[in-house]
Amino acid sequence: MNNDFFAKEHFETRINCPICHTEIIMHWQRDNIPYFGEVMYITGVCENCKFRFTDTMILASKEPMRYELSIESLEDLNARVIRSTSGTIRIPELGIDVEPGTISQSYVTNIEGVLQRIMNVLITASKWAVEDDESEEKFARSQELMSILEEVMEGKRKITLVIEDPLGNSAIISKKAKAIKLTQEEAEQLNTGMIIFDVDKSELEMDVSENIRSPGKESSENE
Ligand SMILES: [Zn+2]
Repeated sequence: MNNDFFAKEHFETRINCPICHTEIIMHWQRDNIPYFGEVMYITGVCENCKFRFTDTMILASKEPMRYELSIESLEDLNARVIRSTSGTIRIPELGIDVEPGTISQSYVTNIEGVLQRIMNVLITASKWAVEDDESEEKFARSQELMSILEEVMEGKRKITLVIEDPLGNSAIISKKAKAIKLTQEEAEQLNTGMIIFDVDKSELEMDVSENIRSPGKESSENE
C-alpha cells in the first residue's frame, strides 16, 4: 500500500468478506494517543452477512515488541492497553495465555478492561465445563482464577500483565511498563491471528473470538 495513505485522517479500502465474499468497505481512521503516538483504527462490516472486522495499527513502532507491567495498585489498573488482532496477552503467574484467534478483535482499553475480558472468557469456559461432566477439574481451576482476578481488580493481589506482538501493534502505555524488543525467534513463535482471511465458513462459525489455553497446561504447537 502507498505510504501516503497513512498521512490521511481517514481513508477507505475494499476487501472481500472472508465468509460470504461480498465486498466490504474498510474504514481507516487515524488517531493520536497522548504520550504514545499515531495509531490507525481499521473497521469494516459486511452488509450481507454482518461479519465484523476491527483492528488497530500502531504507526510509530513496527518492531516485534513485548510490554510487561507489574500490577501492584489500583492506579496500575488504569494504564492504557492497545491490543491489536496480532497481540498475545499473558499472565505468567496464572498460566494464562490469550492468543490471537480466528476472529479475534482489537481494542483499546485499560488493564482493568483486559482483566474483565479474561474474566468473561473464564465465565464462558466454566459454563462449558458444567455441561461436560468430565471437566470438574477445569471448572475448579476457572473458579480459582476468577477469584484471583477479582482480588487483583480490588488491588489486593499482584500479577504481571504481558503483551507480545510480532507486528508491534499492541502496547501497554504506562511509565512503569517495560518495553522490550522481541528477538526474531520469539517473534516467529507468536500467532498473529492473520489467518482470518484464509479460513472458510465452517471454521469461523464454530470458533469464539479468542483462544485461551487450558490454564496450567504446556503450550502446544498447533491449535
Ligand atoms: Zn459477508
